[in-house]
Amino acid sequence: MNLVSTVARLRVVAGAAAPVCAPAFTLALALAAPARAEWLSRTVDGTMGTRIVVELWSDDRAAGERAIDAVMAEMRHIDTNMSTYKPDSEISRVNAHAAQGPVKIDTELFDLLETALEYSRITEGAFDITYASVGFMYDFRAHHRPTEQQIDAALPAVNYHHVLLDRATHTVRFSRPGVRIDLGGIAKGYAVDRGIEILQRRGIKHALVSAGGDSRIIGDRFGKPWIVGIRHPDHKDQVIARLPLVDTAISTSGDYERYYDENGVRYHHIIDPRTGHSASAVRSATVLAPTATRTDGLSKTAFVLGAEEAIRIYEKLGDVDAVIVRPDGKVLYTKGLEPPPAADHR
Ligand code: ADP
Ligand code: MG
Repeated sequence: MNLVSTVARLRVVAGAAAPVCAPAFTLALALAAPARAEWLSRTVDGTMGTRIVVELWSDDRAAGERAIDAVMAEMRHIDTNMSTYKPDSEISRVNAHAAQGPVKIDTELFDLLETALEYSRITEGAFDITYASVGFMYDFRAHHRPTEQQIDAALPAVNYHHVLLDRATHTVRFSRPGVRIDLGGIAKGYAVDRGIEILQRRGIKHALVSAGGDSRIIGDRFGKPWIVGIRHPDHKDQVIARLPLVDTAISTSGDYERYYDENGVRYHHIIDPRTGHSASAVRSATVLAPTATRTDGLSKTAFVLGAEEAIRIYEKLGDVDAVIVRPDGKVLYTKGLEPPPAADHR
């Protein structure tokens, strides 16, 4: 994992003149650049169940395109190993067998499971890959959710302490039946970091890699920051804040990403590990930190613990900033971000 970048201390620009969706990025096109150098951009839909975007500045177009190919290949590799939607993925093998005994896994998955457990500890249990022990019974597209009885029966299996890793043998084991894990809350951030590492190894200095709500930026746009808009939870085309960013990762989690509404209740994809229900303490949370693994691992916290508790955790970490939208429309910022004059969006 690459830890070289640092969170830029940012000034948050309030309101929005131009409608920009999150994540939305503007590029300075060929400004004061040598003739052959150019911005390259590619968008691929479907890998990791989301949209992958790579944008980069390259002096050599062919080398730039090859670098993008390499990032996309890495995303497909991670998807193949870590998707619970693929029955023959490594993670599906773990879910099928780890309750019966230790399952040997490769280093990459082992390390990511270890990282996931670390984020469970950091977030005081809000982030928990065993959410899937209940989460697998939800199908938001089909407007389907488990009954209270089904949730009650499955809930004891939700607890990251049930995931036992043994570094000596590179195995994972579940301490009880019924446990399932899912990396949907961290694999995209991890994949973004791997993508950025590939670009850095090839000497690329200005780039964006994004997988759904998880993005990371290296460098600037030749003297100017990248501009990322945070969308209004209820209005796709309205922006509540625009963040000028350089050398940072950013993840936004929102209750509007995968959801359905029924009788005034929103059922959405972030699950409270304590209850097995959708976690609705906030509407959206945008987290900034040096790596996308970190921002992804942290962006679910406020949904479960509430905005104030999440901010307490983030400020303790020192390298994390956040913008959180509460259900009453109030927007909260960590101390590292200068609050705009009007912070309410009702
Ligand atoms: P995206 O998938 O767009 O990156 P998020 O980063 O907000 O969105 O992650 C949401 C995903 O995280 C869910 O779809 C699910 O796979 C997973 N998830 C849901 N609840 C939890 C939780 N409490 N802890 C860890 N992962 C979770
Ligand atoms: Mg994410």
